Amino acid sequence: MEFIIESLLTPLGFFSDPNRRLYWVYLLFSLFVFLFFVFKKNIYCEIKSKAMLNKDSLWLDVKLWLFNSVIRSFVGLFAFISLSATVLLFVKFLYIMLPHWSPLQINYTIVTVFLTFVSFVVFDFLRFFQHYLMHKVSFLWHFHQVHHSATYLTPITLYRMHPVENLISAFRRIGGQTFVFGSFMFIFGSSVNVYDIIGVNAISFVANFALSNLRHSPLPISFGLLEKVFISPAQHQLHHSSNPKLTHSNYGVVLSLWDKLWGTLVLYNKQDIKYGVKNLHLQNQGFYHQLITPFSLCLQQYKSFAPNLKSFIRYPFNLIAKTGENIHEV
Ligand SMILES: [Zn+2]
Ligand SMILES: [Zn+2]
Repeated sequence: MEFIIESLLTPLGFFSDPNRRLYWVYLLFSLFVFLFFVFKKNIYCEIKSKAMLNKDSLWLDVKLWLFNSVIRSFVGLFAFISLSATVLLFVKFLYIMLPHWSPLQINYTIVTVFLTFVSFVVFDFLRFFQHYLMHKVSFLWHFHQVHHSATYLTPITLYRMHPVENLISAFRRIGGQTFVFGSFMFIFGSSVNVYDIIGVNAISFVANFALSNLRHSPLPISFGLLEKVFISPAQHQLHHSSNPKLTHSNYGVVLSLWDKLWGTLVLYNKQDIKYGVKNLHLQNQGFYHQLITPFSLCLQQYKSFAPNLKSFIRYPFNLIAKTGENIHEV
């Protein structure tokens, strides 16, 4: 019981953790920007016509946020993988592969600045690529639709995720961090300390401060031409449109350069949008449906794939059998 209460209280910690988008300083800053724009009449009209507050959608965001926090705390109890352990293992692996390597001796500050930059670029790309796959691979899309089924966007919509997607994100995060931090420790040796580098988040701090919370809000803030480099809140709102052409665009988190390279970039042009997912089983569904429907959709899809999958799996054995027969005949 105590554990459940503690887990349910975990989301409160999100407001005091600078690594979370819901950190109170970011929220306060977003609120100021929000109010500033709302008092400009034209923006207010735009918001009103675009999204009326949908309490059911907001309540579902909160329920999924709390549910995911309980799961995260529960998994955390049994987690045997810790970042420092995987980083050190990766460094060991690199030393086994290149036993004669001697680390470069470079100024600590230069290495830290370089590491901050590389981490930002690599992690941002990995987040983009995972998001791209969540849309392009049909099994993954069933789970990602939970996020897209929101019909009203608030900063909490960020946590409206199916636990399966959260699990995939956790593996992506630990994989990316292990690779970048491990490589740096290997290349620069004692100039980099595993505990220091885990705290490197200067660029994400700035990115969070710069309107990240307003990505999930009805406020369409555009960056104009800069949208070709950075994803604006308005561009992410286009991504939440129920129009499939817009849904499958703007996958980036901070940089939009990845979308430009992949041909999925759409700039904000005061498009008229409605949030949600079209003709799909999750729209306007309750909490349990959101959790279970993705699994049943996967099962249905597996069944339609199954005959091909079985023949594919049997194929090598068929081949061996035929070759055997041929040998006999010869
Ligand atoms: Zn998406
Ligand atoms: Zn979103």
